[in-house]
Amino acid sequence: MEKRIVVLGAGESGAGAAILANKLGFDVFVSDYGTISDKYKNMLDEHNIVWEEKQHTKELILNAHEIIKSPGIPNNAPIVSEAREAGIPIISEIEFAGRYTKAKMVCITGSNGKTTTTSLIYHIFQQAGLNVGLAGNIGNSLALQVAQGDKDYYIVELSSFQLDNMYEFRANVAVLMNITPDHLDRYDHCMQNYVDAKFRIIQNQGPDDAFVFWNDDPIIQNELTKYKHGKLYPFAEKREEGLAAYTEEHKIIFTEPTPFNMEQEELSLTGKHNLYNSMAAGISANVAGIRKETIREALKSFQGVEHRLEKVARIKGVEFINDSKATNVNSCWYALQSMKNKTVLILGGKDKGNDYSEIAELVREKCSALIFMGADNSKLHKFFDSFGLPIADVDSVQGCISEAVRLAKEGETVLLSPCCASFDLFSSYEDRGRQFKEEVYKLKKENNE
Ligand code: ADP
Repeated sequence: MEKRIVVLGAGESGAGAAILANKLGFDVFVSDYGTISDKYKNMLDEHNIVWEEKQHTKELILNAHEIIKSPGIPNNAPIVSEAREAGIPIISEIEFAGRYTKAKMVCITGSNGKTTTTSLIYHIFQQAGLNVGLAGNIGNSLALQVAQGDKDYYIVELSSFQLDNMYEFRANVAVLMNITPDHLDRYDHCMQNYVDAKFRIIQNQGPDDAFVFWNDDPIIQNELTKYKHGKLYPFAEKREEGLAAYTEEHKIIFTEPTPFNMEQEELSLTGKHNLYNSMAAGISANVAGIRKETIREALKSFQGVEHRLEKVARIKGVEFINDSKATNVNSCWYALQSMKNKTVLILGGKDKGNDYSEIAELVREKCSALIFMGADNSKLHKFFDSFGLPIADVDSVQGCISEAVRLAKEGETVLLSPCCASFDLFSSYEDRGRQFKEEVYKLKKENNE
């Protein structure tokens, strides 16, 4: 009997998985409880893949030999629980695609910095002229790329949700940026479950593989002893025995496999968090044998990623920065930490159980005013009102920019780094960031700048 593969969820990863499974000759069925976008319907139709939307037909799903689950579907969704009870193996798209590629895998996870570091590594590998694909949470799915002609390397951004359903997959280079509380609603509000998911990035590593990680993260340090892993390549700001990268007198020192260094000032990305991201990327490229000159040049020329401390415009001496992707308190901490001027901070949105005390000191030190942009700002008021800073409440980007113009003085920075998800007022963090940028561009035009 033909092996039956059922794909749950028809977004980028689900559609890609279905196309690869179809190409491999499996009997494929795709089921999405929501509506499938036209893009993916067309893709599935082109390959004559049977799909359904707005429902999960049990008879067509629970007869699967294996289920590929999209990362957006929680493990406790009823259909997933039923499949588990029926003993059907449930895997992620990356796990599936990983079986059919011989490419070397460079995989990146962490609570913050994944997309930046993944993009940075991809940029270095491209500059080195390698046959490399970008996959995971960004770009085309790994499965689609494997189906369309394999690469020599894939740089794969892995969320904890992707990692949840990975078992045999092996990362030749695993990068773990940091672990701070996030998405706990999907992990039974148990931090250890989330930590365990992140550490799946090193499962199946052998002695020839590499594990690159931030050495100063207490959670990573604590977990390290529990696992078998590849060769360790820790990085940190301060010099210590055994580090693969650290800083000294304005330089980044890379120690192994090939020792080299570069001026910190030459890095295209600024801020302490980006120093870490650049170190992780530099080590990964170094491990892959890329020439030090290429790594140095690529770390200088990287253009940055949209919505991550993205400089939008300078208007009447005020700098506007879009950091809409800062959807948790820790990423806002790093954004604030990298601010050189007094800052009007825009924060707010859908609170994920935030504890703002993490940024309290930086807000006191760096902020000249606060703008709360959310449907419900009461929690923000409760925490920040006593700071004595000017505060404005807005519920739109238009309102936000006019308050920013009123509050920001020449030489200051307006920073959108909201600590929160965007779904109360926007469709996504990208939507929030784009609307913010559009409004800033309008303002720039009005000012003829
Ligand atoms: P992710 O893909 O993990 O969400 P991004 O690279 O998209 O991470 O960055 C999201 C936000 O997190 C950035 O806007 C920045 O404020 C913050 N950030 C980036 N890198 C780091 C890091 N290494 N440590 C902590 N915060 C970071």
